[in-house]
Amino acid sequence: MMRDWVPWPAEFADRYRREGYWAGQPLGALLRDSCVRHAGRVAIVHDDCRLTYRDLAERSGRLAARLHSLDVRATDRVVVQLPNVPEFAVLLLALLHIGAVPVLALPGHRRVEITHLCTHSGAVALAIVDRFRGVDYRQVAREVRPGAPDLRHVLVAGDAQEFTGWEGEDIVPEPHRPDPGEPALMLLSGGTTGLPKLIPRTHDDYAYNARTTAEALRFGADGVYLAVNPLGHNSALGCPGLLGALLVGGTVVLTSGVRPDEVFALVRRERVTLTTVVPSVLRLWLDAAERTGTRLPDLLLQVGSAKLAPAWAGRVREVLGGQLSQWFGIGEGLLTYTRLDDPDEVVAGTEGRPLAAADEIRVVDPDGRPVPAGEVGELLARGPYTVRGYYRAPERNAESFTEDGFFRTGDLVRLRTDGNLVVVGRLKDVVNRAGEKVPAAEVEEHLLTHPEVLDAAVVGVDDPVLGERAVAFVVPRGGGLDAGAVKRYLRERGLAVFKVPDRVVPVTGLPRTAVGKVDKVALRTSVASVP
Ligand code: AMP
Repeated sequence: MMRDWVPWPAEFADRYRREGYWAGQPLGALLRDSCVRHAGRVAIVHDDCRLTYRDLAERSGRLAARLHSLDVRATDRVVVQLPNVPEFAVLLLALLHIGAVPVLALPGHRRVEITHLCTHSGAVALAIVDRFRGVDYRQVAREVRPGAPDLRHVLVAGDAQEFTGWEGEDIVPEPHRPDPGEPALMLLSGGTTGLPKLIPRTHDDYAYNARTTAEALRFGADGVYLAVNPLGHNSALGCPGLLGALLVGGTVVLTSGVRPDEVFALVRRERVTLTTVVPSVLRLWLDAAERTGTRLPDLLLQVGSAKLAPAWAGRVREVLGGQLSQWFGIGEGLLTYTRLDDPDEVVAGTEGRPLAAADEIRVVDPDGRPVPAGEVGELLARGPYTVRGYYRAPERNAESFTEDGFFRTGDLVRLRTDGNLVVVGRLKDVVNRAGEKVPAAEVEEHLLTHPEVLDAAVVGVDDPVLGERAVAFVVPRGGGLDAGAVKRYLRERGLAVFKVPDRVVPVTGLPRTAVGKVDKVALRTSVASVP
């Protein structure tokens, strides 16, 4: 049994089981069954590598043996920081085989985040690749180790150097049979307050999440999913993503690049039927498709993680010939989707309806009272795959969940009378940079450690390519402050690359509201006038 997480109250768990949301099967067992049922079909494609379901089962069994011989056991946490490579799937299945709990980091994380994830989760191991796209992850691991005393192993796919090699072993242990109501893996919150919080997702809830999104998007055994977003992110992992595709016997094509020419060629070569992208990537692809006259009529584009302007939504069919599904999703659970047979106006102008009939949503004012129908308020959610708390975070839980178990999303929405949701903004102080969430408070804290910085505020401003970019306003202590040096300083502190502000603007003071808070609205407005 894992401790320090918040299960659903018994009456809710009973209901979700009774009504069939929770199937009572461990995620690992479901995936192993799929590997048997679809043994000869292709599970994973990456460059020249093609793994059948049989290969995937065999490799993950051998890696499970390796992990077992390293004394990694059920409920042990393992931080996984891998890019979109086949080893990701092999490792995930291996960890589920032995009942260890993957903590899913993103490839953009660096020393600060990985150290936090290792210490906060009490991880016994960190799994990385040797190098990827110019980053030596072994070097990051070297920087992490002194701050993460519980870490017994750094497992490296590729050249392990002084760390532990990845090669499989022969004596495959019996699969662990966890209670399906227990956490299977941990996602990271894209939240507001500093470093990511850990979201324990249970076997029951995440299997439902993955399977039902596949069904909602009519993705079956003949489906081919292209993973563009990082596999460690909910969007490409379980919505339906890698897990949904594997559960139904489909094929997952892996890439980390978003270059239109490469992606279009890949979509054609592998006959991709579904992919999930953020709006900035969609815009890039649409522009390129228009220039080159590319049509991809068999492709369903699932677009979310940040707001997509309705004008762009309309161009998917017009330019690419493909179909669009907009979605709103949070690592904590709730997913809303536009369905394939929804009218165009719904697909272009809303983020759709909740996935489950048992999803409960409320739209409330700042005092927590429901707003009148159709008006804007904060979205709260509760349901069969929306968690009841973060891992090891009682204080955060008290702020982030209502007493009756609704998660406060921090997003401002309007619920239409037809049940479709429209996201209009957010309460949370987060910059949504091409779908990557940058908590302003965390970056500000790092800026304030710079000896020459007296005060700092980070805001998101509209950007035609990224959706939003981060601008840091800094008040220097004395004379001038070199913006480039400030960015370098943040990188050297080991902050994730996507959190380093796009611009650093020295100012003599920060505007304040009547109660003395930094006036971020004024700052955002002032950006337009900064040369
Ligand atoms: P994450 O947990 O990283 O997936 O981030 C969840 C957050 O992404 C939500 O709370 C929203 O702020 C944002 N988000 C997700 N989908 C959308 C969408 N379709 N439109 C606008 N914001 C979105």
